[in-house]
Amino acid sequence: MREVLTHSTESNPFASEAIKDVMDLCLSCKGCKAECPSNVDVGKMKAEFLQNYYDSKGIPLRTRMIAHYNNLNKVASLLPRAYNFWFGTKLTGELSKKLMGFHPKRSLPELHKQTLRKWANKHLNRLNQAITQKKGQVFFFADEFTNYNDTPIGIKAIELLTRLGYEVILPNHAESGRTYLSKGLLKDAKKIAQKNVQLFSMLVQADKPLVGLEPSAILTFRDEYIDLADADWRPKAEALAKHTFTIEEFLAQEVDRGNITAEQFTTEKRLIKLHGHCHQKALSSLVPTKKILSLPQNYEMHLIPSGCCGMAGSFGYEAEHYELSMQIGELVLFPTVRNQPEEVIIAAPGTSCRHQIKDGTQRLALHPVEVLWRALAP
Ligand code: SF4
Repeated sequence: MREVLTHSTESNPFASEAIKDVMDLCLSCKGCKAECPSNVDVGKMKAEFLQNYYDSKGIPLRTRMIAHYNNLNKVASLLPRAYNFWFGTKLTGELSKKLMGFHPKRSLPELHKQTLRKWANKHLNRLNQAITQKKGQVFFFADEFTNYNDTPIGIKAIELLTRLGYEVILPNHAESGRTYLSKGLLKDAKKIAQKNVQLFSMLVQADKPLVGLEPSAILTFRDEYIDLADADWRPKAEALAKHTFTIEEFLAQEVDRGNITAEQFTTEKRLIKLHGHCHQKALSSLVPTKKILSLPQNYEMHLIPSGCCGMAGSFGYEAEHYELSMQIGELVLFPTVRNQPEEVIIAAPGTSCRHQIKDGTQRLALHPVEVLWRALAP
């Protein structure tokens, strides 16, 4: 890339098909950010490259559609049953996917019948008021995937937090911007990052942290937002990042403080196999997840020694990447999941990882908070 950029004769050296071809196969999993001895962050370079490339060549329709996932879902969520029927029916679904550049064999994420925000408007006050022994307050980040698709997981997370004694506050915030970041639309992502930094830096404090379910969304506060925030807001973005946690990190801290104990959970025996999210491995750790999933007295958690699941946001949906995506899944993840007896719980915090496991093995994977919600003592 350096060679092409240095010797290019183009007015915009980024308008290079050669670099685009190379970058096309990067999944933006951030594996290199954590594992490369030179700390090369190819995902970040890919995003920077694509923004510059699109500035010259224009933004393709599929890229726009994926990036505007939140806006499209806002409209589609007015008629979620019709949307699910259309994309779930073989004829209309396959035709639409083909026209949009998605692989016909790939299932698309279904819309839930109500958004998490609508549910929270009806139920959150009641759950907060039912807390008998309050241990603290948390701001909850209703990312675009949890809000529209994984609503039941968001509900269980809020129920789990309030049952454990934490008042949940759901501010009216912007989406995470992950879909723009993964497609290289950094100018749009910057506006979203700035909005979230401005809002949450006024609210979030050490004793009122921000927590989120989807690693690729909540961890943007600790990674890309610090680069994207306006220069005069960067110190605030850095301070905010220090109090922003995945829900597993938050719960594990509370276990360490003695605020959450094994007595609050079942004594039933269960084995859990965990597939970690790439961004979680690169920017956080799987240790907090191991801690909380091993908290119920007779729960045991083993890590699946997998790398990226192969879905990587929209990558595995795209027609030209589908076969490669499934090949990546077949390396370790799919065979390991297929070999597990029915009673073993498969856990994966990433929404696209769970989707990939479903498409590749027909097994249902749970978010770690769903596992803990099920394990709550009556
Ligand atoms: S696929 Fe992942 S590890 Fe490979 S270059 Fe891209 S971000 Fe880095």
